[in-house]
Amino acid sequence: MSNHQNEITPLIHIVNHYQCELGEGPVWDAKRNSIIWLDIIKGNIHEYNITNSVFNTTSVHQMIGSFALCEDGHFVAALQQGLYFINKFTGEQKLIAQPEIHLPQNRFNDGKCDPAGRFWAGTMSTKDEEGVGNVYMLDKKEQLSIMIEQVTISNGLAWSLDHKTLYYIDTPTYAIVAYDYDLVSGQINNKRVVINFEKAEGYPDGMTIDTEGMLWIAHWGGWQVSRWDPNTGQKLSHFKLPVEKVTSCTFGGENYTDLYITSAKIGLTDQELQQQPLAGSLFVIPFCGFKGIAPIEFQGVGF
Ligand code: CA
Repeated sequence: MSNHQNEITPLIHIVNHYQCELGEGPVWDAKRNSIIWLDIIKGNIHEYNITNSVFNTTSVHQMIGSFALCEDGHFVAALQQGLYFINKFTGEQKLIAQPEIHLPQNRFNDGKCDPAGRFWAGTMSTKDEEGVGNVYMLDKKEQLSIMIEQVTISNGLAWSLDHKTLYYIDTPTYAIVAYDYDLVSGQINNKRVVINFEKAEGYPDGMTIDTEGMLWIAHWGGWQVSRWDPNTGQKLSHFKLPVEKVTSCTFGGENYTDLYITSAKIGLTDQELQQQPLAGSLFVIPFCGFKGIAPIEFQGVGF
């Protein structure tokens, strides 16, 4: 690892005072000027509107691993027991698929739309079993395919700017892997490791990509988000956070210059909570010095 990392100390804010048990899955909604994020454990979708400061919570009544915006403004979501459309305004759920109904100990985790507007989401065991998770791809005709098998804690997904590479994180491996990705079919192959985490810096969790093609990775147990060059495997810089369990990040704001970062307080002792009283908060680093890209919407009809 490089000895020439730039340590940056920017202004970090909390978006509001709400603290999740397991905050995750931030998505910028440009149409509403909102940041939307999840509390996986409580099964809540939170939305904070930057224009009018209105904070809104929708319960899905089961755990929720991830979601994406649909073209029609509603959500496609990976809930504990399957993939659903969720009506943004009423909370109504419409089941799409339950591919792991035979694996009741599994739940869905991180997910994101690929550059063609298909929703990818992976699963994990809630009982710490190894290799029982899978990554699925949902296309606009609501056909579901298994894309990656035998993963343990399926997490960050990002596609390269030229749409030729998928980056993926199975958290316990401490590695970010890349696959050749076919935009037309969604098929992936040629898996290789492109980044290795040092264990002392925590586990790699959620991930996003910036306009220079560099990866931003949240460190679960590592008090930071970091920026990496997937072409060299080198860590370029990082932002320190006042919380240990940093879960995911995404760019938002008018020009995608603001970095939003989710965190968790689950599993912290009372003493640890005293030391990190903002655990579970949604953080933002306005004008962080880098720019992201707009999230891809699901190219299917939800409701
Ligand atoms: Ca995660």
